[in-house]
Amino acid sequence: MLTRFAPSLTGYLHLGHVLHMLYVWGIAQKKGAGVLCRIEDHDLSRARPEYETAIFQTLEWLGFIPDLGISGADEKPSDFRQSDCSAYYESVLQTLEQRGLVYGCECSRKQIAADQPVGAGELCYSGTCRDKGLPLVGNTVRFRTLEGETAFLDLELGEQRQIPRNQCGDFSLRDRQGQWTYQFACVCDDIRHGVDLVIRGEDILFSTARQIQLFQTLEAPVPQYFHHPLITDGAGKKLSKRQRSESITQLREAGASPEEIIGQALFSGGFIPECTGLTVNKAVVLVQQPEFCRKRG
Ligand SMILES: [Zn+2]
Repeated sequence: MLTRFAPSLTGYLHLGHVLHMLYVWGIAQKKGAGVLCRIEDHDLSRARPEYETAIFQTLEWLGFIPDLGISGADEKPSDFRQSDCSAYYESVLQTLEQRGLVYGCECSRKQIAADQPVGAGELCYSGTCRDKGLPLVGNTVRFRTLEGETAFLDLELGEQRQIPRNQCGDFSLRDRQGQWTYQFACVCDDIRHGVDLVIRGEDILFSTARQIQLFQTLEAPVPQYFHHPLITDGAGKKLSKRQRSESITQLREAGASPEEIIGQALFSGGFIPECTGLTVNKAVVLVQQPEFCRKRG
């Protein structure tokens, strides 16, 4: 089995990322899966090279060692850095286009928002441009979502059911500026890299079914999913806003040791009753203990 650690390049890693790493390496160890490292910089407007350099430094300093994928900012180009993979995404898009499964959309976000019922959560695209035959280049490229419900068994949360058609409608694979979206780039990468175990935070659970629809449409095996809780109040004490937003780079510069940071992440994830230092090797074993599963919420 293969899972991945795939940080986005939108900022420096913080304590929430460390908890995520513990889950990724911990669940991978439990399942006998390898961990691949991938840089998700599909959002070129927010990606900064210093973030990428800091990711590799932080991984090494904390003691998380990926089994494959990218291992340094100087590896250019890389199949494991999204900004280097545009030609590949283009080829996958062409496959979908040939099968009539995507279309160009000229609607602005503002127009779509104006179309929503009062109090609606996520923006749901009603399909205004579905039959207009607009070109893909220069327009938002949308995927024709499948009708009905998509069900999957989450390894942590049990059976899940989602209806992408009602949640988001025909979702976007590429924006009008030509930037690939997270949903599309991520599925393309998982297929290309043979990822069959996806470990991610509960905050993006809502978007899993639309990814599954892409896997199914591209006739690729659907990975197993494990959605983990995020940093909340841990063992009773609330993590301050400052602690949540402070980067690992800052904490390190302020004199914190790797073990202290691992301990803080475990504590704020509810795994230990008080903040004590722990090595990565001990911490990943702790994350695997079944008594922690589904007990935290
Ligand atoms: Zn449209």
